[in-house]
Amino acid sequence: MITNSFSFKRYFSLFFVMFFLISGAQKKFTIVLDAGHGGSDHGANRHYGDLGTVREKDVTLAITLKLGRMLEKNKDYKVIYTRKIDEFPSLTERTTLANRSKADLFISIHVNASTKTSPYGTETFVQGPDQNKTNLEVAKAENDVIFLDEKDRETFATYDPKSPESLIALKIQQSKYLETSLLFGSYVEGNFVKKDNRFSRGVKQQNLHVLRLNAMPSVLIETGFVSNYDEASYLASDRGQNEVSQSIYDAIIVYKKAIERNGGAPTPTREVEKPVEIALKNDFRILLMSSQTKYVPTDPALKGLNYILTIKENDLYKYYFSVTNMASVRDNNLKTAKDAGFRNASSISFVPNQKLGTGYYTLEVAVSDQKLSSNSFMLNTLKDVNRTKENGKFYYTYGKFSSLEEAVKIQKQLDEKGIKNATIQKISR
Ligand SMILES: [Zn+2]
Repeated sequence: MITNSFSFKRYFSLFFVMFFLISGAQKKFTIVLDAGHGGSDHGANRHYGDLGTVREKDVTLAITLKLGRMLEKNKDYKVIYTRKIDEFPSLTERTTLANRSKADLFISIHVNASTKTSPYGTETFVQGPDQNKTNLEVAKAENDVIFLDEKDRETFATYDPKSPESLIALKIQQSKYLETSLLFGSYVEGNFVKKDNRFSRGVKQQNLHVLRLNAMPSVLIETGFVSNYDEASYLASDRGQNEVSQSIYDAIIVYKKAIERNGGAPTPTREVEKPVEIALKNDFRILLMSSQTKYVPTDPALKGLNYILTIKENDLYKYYFSVTNMASVRDNNLKTAKDAGFRNASSISFVPNQKLGTGYYTLEVAVSDQKLSSNSFMLNTLKDVNRTKENGKFYYTYGKFSSLEEAVKIQKQLDEKGIKNATIQKISR
């Protein structure tokens, strides 16, 4: 009996282990739905004789609730709302909620406005470094709400995206969400055009506070212009709100399928008419320029672009912008670089985790006109720093690494130790 009950217990616990493994594998796809604005923050409004006042905060909530109801009927999805009523959750609350819930996708829904009545159409924004001036208006309008909340001011005041403390590894990590965010955005805009006959202004990159701190693919959808009579009347109508939420819903379904295949490499699905893009084997970075001058990430010479990786090669500092293995994102990044003023920017292919046959990577930790004191913070913190003198300058390097990824990893560790702005150097000999 004892033996029997023992084996039964074992059998039983094995069953539980398997049950949890299976239920873990079938974790619901969690989506945070963020109805823009709310409460005292009305967002954009317009008054029309026949429509009355069309308020952004009402339209965004109506679309969000319709979309949420569709998703809740599908057992594959879990929905988290930043608000379900007319209230104003702070941007910090929206982001914290999203990150704490370990969501798979964050969708912020908004309505656009212009000082003129003619502009119309939809556009979807992802967090990114686009320098395009026309997008700045949207960024300003959507970011302005930040100052309504004291807690936000604290949170965002300590976060400077252009600070040297922003780690390159983190930037590369963020660009992982950039690709998937762009992919989802393209599905949303595609549906608006194909299914609803809307005019799409495209998928764009912009610094938006509500997206910035999210550790997941995130988009902000501008569902149309309240300042345009036709679109205001469409967005205020049940039919318009149903179409918008249905198109976003359909985009979610296709997106989930696409990213679940091959761990992030989307493959064609039946729902998509045009072939879905497949990830490339190589990574692509945009070479902005080569210069004998060493710039810190905040230097105006880099024209405000984020996601910069500097690699010193043959006494020249090469400044690379962003990284991706998606052709469309690469082309978009190249355009962003050119728009920012780097007319000669070009895309360069990198083999991931490639080990150098000859030569190695090292980290240039300091360049100085004078010899550093052995009591200096850097020399005290690091052992085995190599010093060379060239043209009257002292160059200090640290470590030997066979791959770029390894060098980036150590660069990040140095940054955490307080050794900032170490530059990766490629030695080809
Ligand atoms: Zn808005």
